[in-house]
Amino acid sequence: MSKKGKVFFIGAGPGDPELITLKGEKILNICDVVIYAGSLVNEEILNYCKMDCLKFNSANMTLQDIISTIEQYVQEGKLVVRLHTGDPSLYGAIFEQMVELDEREIDYEVVPGVSSAFAGAALLKREFTIPGVSQTVIFTRFSGRTPVPEKERLAELSKHKASMVIFLSVAMIEEVVRSLKSGYEEDTPVVIVYRASWEDEWVIRGTLSDIVEKVKEVGIKRQALIFVGEFLSPKNFDYSKLYDENFEHNYRTFKE
Ligand code: SAH
Repeated sequence: MSKKGKVFFIGAGPGDPELITLKGEKILNICDVVIYAGSLVNEEILNYCKMDCLKFNSANMTLQDIISTIEQYVQEGKLVVRLHTGDPSLYGAIFEQMVELDEREIDYEVVPGVSSAFAGAALLKREFTIPGVSQTVIFTRFSGRTPVPEKERLAELSKHKASMVIFLSVAMIEEVVRSLKSGYEEDTPVVIVYRASWEDEWVIRGTLSDIVEKVKEVGIKRQALIFVGEFLSPKNFDYSKLYDENFEHNYRTFKE
């Protein structure tokens, strides 16, 4: 039997407090408890909560602390929000929390958010899926404390020459670039996006041959994404068939 309270996992978006969804904001307005990922969630978002909302920063909590906090308040019939950065389905460690809640028969829902990958594309004014360039986006990371499966090694993935977004890896830029060179050409564009959508957002542009130097010069170690691929400065590309006047589809028939 499900207990009285309820849990919402909410994507807080990439930083800008206006980049949370309306649904996410509405739930924050009424929740009793919020457990937020303090390292990356913009604390201004907590202003959406009511005055007496209890706030916990998960940066100093273990999984067990998080789950027992959720359990305690749900048993009291409270509305609990677990606030993740960007979209919780990407490197959010949300799955293990959902498994633990399932085991305890605690009811939850997930409200998606704007991933930093999309905030980065918006900042750069780029499309990941330009016809004739790439129709595939790879979201990945370099092995760190969380290992990456052998079959997904960056050197292997780079052979597809797809549009790529690398999370959690800027501190290892040298190793990342070495692996990427297994597949991509040396002149492939690489852009580092630091704190997309925050007031101090910052971009470093280069290619696989010079980006390491540029990153080291600035000394960025965290809160950044590595974008890789031709989509960043496409030389040859096609226009989409979707809006092509000679192309008929269900919603738009040929004009004579
Ligand atoms: N779920 C998040 C990612 C969490 S993992 C999302 O969808 O965005 C944390 C990593 O995300 C950071 O190490 C960094 O690589 C990236 N990141 C998060 N917010 C960012 C931002 N505003 N700008 C650039 N990178 C960001």
